[in-house]
Amino acid sequence: MGFKTDIQIADEAKMLPIEEVAAKIGFEKDDLEQYGKYKTKISWDAIKRIEENSENGKLILVSAISPTPAGEGKSTVSIGLTQGLNRIGKKSAVALREPSLGPVFGVKGGAAGGGYSQVVPMEDINLHFTGDLHAMTAANNLISACIDNHIHQGNALRIDCRQITWKRVIDMNDRSLRNVVISLGKKADGFPREDHFMITVASEIMAVLCLSENIEDLKNRLAKMIIGYNLDNEPVTVADLEIQGAVAMLLKDALKPNMVQTLENTPAFIHGGPFANIAHGCNSILATKLALATSDYAVTEAGFGADLGAEKFMDIKCRMAGLSPDAVVIVATIKALKMHGGVDKKELKTENVEALEKGFANLRRHVENIKKFGVPAIIAINRFADDTEAEIAKLEELCKELGVRISLCECFAKGGEGAEDLAKQVVELIDEGKADFKPLYDVNASIVDKVNTIVKEIYRGREAKFTKAAMNQVKKLEEIGLDKLPICVAKTQFSFTDDQKIMGAPTDFDIEIQDVRVSAGAGFIVVQTSNIMVMPGLPKVPAANKMDIDNNGVITGLF
Ligand code: ADP
Repeated sequence: MGFKTDIQIADEAKMLPIEEVAAKIGFEKDDLEQYGKYKTKISWDAIKRIEENSENGKLILVSAISPTPAGEGKSTVSIGLTQGLNRIGKKSAVALREPSLGPVFGVKGGAAGGGYSQVVPMEDINLHFTGDLHAMTAANNLISACIDNHIHQGNALRIDCRQITWKRVIDMNDRSLRNVVISLGKKADGFPREDHFMITVASEIMAVLCLSENIEDLKNRLAKMIIGYNLDNEPVTVADLEIQGAVAMLLKDALKPNMVQTLENTPAFIHGGPFANIAHGCNSILATKLALATSDYAVTEAGFGADLGAEKFMDIKCRMAGLSPDAVVIVATIKALKMHGGVDKKELKTENVEALEKGFANLRRHVENIKKFGVPAIIAINRFADDTEAEIAKLEELCKELGVRISLCECFAKGGEGAEDLAKQVVELIDEGKADFKPLYDVNASIVDKVNTIVKEIYRGREAKFTKAAMNQVKKLEEIGLDKLPICVAKTQFSFTDDQKIMGAPTDFDIEIQDVRVSAGAGFIVVQTSNIMVMPGLPKVPAANKMDIDNNGVITGLF
């Protein structure tokens, strides 16, 4: 008998009506705005009531080593851990990001966990879900339409067409839209100009939605977003276009957290989905706060490796929301560690203790980094069928030397049962009471100093080298007083360096900074290293080619 695919396991799930799942953490029927039987949004009245009356539980972040093509499994372990915590009698909810259609049809596939640690209904979550990403796409493109219309109608704001930084978006991997010319045609068709598309999850709208605490906060942030510069080089904002109300209105439902369930019928909030390499990589503050207020252990996840997702979780999300994490789970796989130790992807099934030991340097660095935020870490080894006893023993020995807890997690194969040890150890770690969260840098330091702190302390490079153009941007932000904000580095996820081919734990490198710009609404400064793309492309054979749906609505090939 072959292994069941993720979609087969998800299809066989015995889902409970969502109101029964929500009731487990104190929601009443009237609190829910349901999208069918198994998906719901949470009403504003419920959010306010819960915020005012609840005591917060403990906050657990799930992060990982630098990703490799061998795969890590952060979402799988996050879901497994929340299932495991519930199994050992601890009330737990998980708060995850919403998948983007780009990766679903590209290489990665869906993002709803895997094996017996999934959130369901997985096909809905991976496709249109409750329409949040579509609403964000519309909101973003309303701004674009208003910019070009404003110019067409006489350009009272004197927007400089050569300095429009606001880009159109679509939630799809579509390289042909990276660079486009718009408004071709006759006089009535507007002024032709170069424009660009990003994937929706890279947009400032996505970041703003994830960082807003209510509609008023959302509107204030939208108003501050800079769409470009005028002929005097001064910033032009959404408030100047007088459309923050309309944009906020388009996002009125998208801002409310969604709830679904895990395969073991425990509550899962899934809301907001910025990528962690080109954006801040965390689910919404609203969803995380709801999970914290309604459960004893809230499990949340940040994208890619701990150098990107976890750093931004701590320095952007926790700082802004006043959150303080109690523990970090760092997910690794033996296969991925062997790749970091130099093993070719084709050779990963062969036992190789030596390469594992070498690749452990990547994991060690992430563990040391997490300690710099004052939060204790535990390693979760996401077990794969071909991991050998000798490799596992070596890893346990290395972790012991490093003084960090380790748990073998079999939640992919066994669901919550396979994560019971991890759950127990996480509870013990939190009970030790060692967490004393502090962000890495002072936001009031200069941009150059803040970036250098991240480069030296987290990536362990020599220094950040700013190009002339990037340095000019730094000066501009200092002049307009928008430099005292946290930093959101856009960097390859595959390496501590800005070169995706350098794996492991490299030293003696600089990080080149090519562009610096402010996301004034989100409230952070985006610092872009070389070669980073805000609109991915599809591979030669996209995942889309293997997908199908039959006349009964049964889906295959979604993973
Ligand atoms: P991440 O959140 O780190 O991107 P995911 O949890 O989404 O990773 O997992 C990526 C893929 O790997 C999923 O398709 C999942 O089914 C698969 N996967 C995860 N853990 C295992 C495992 N232990 N064995 C086999 N496949 C796994």
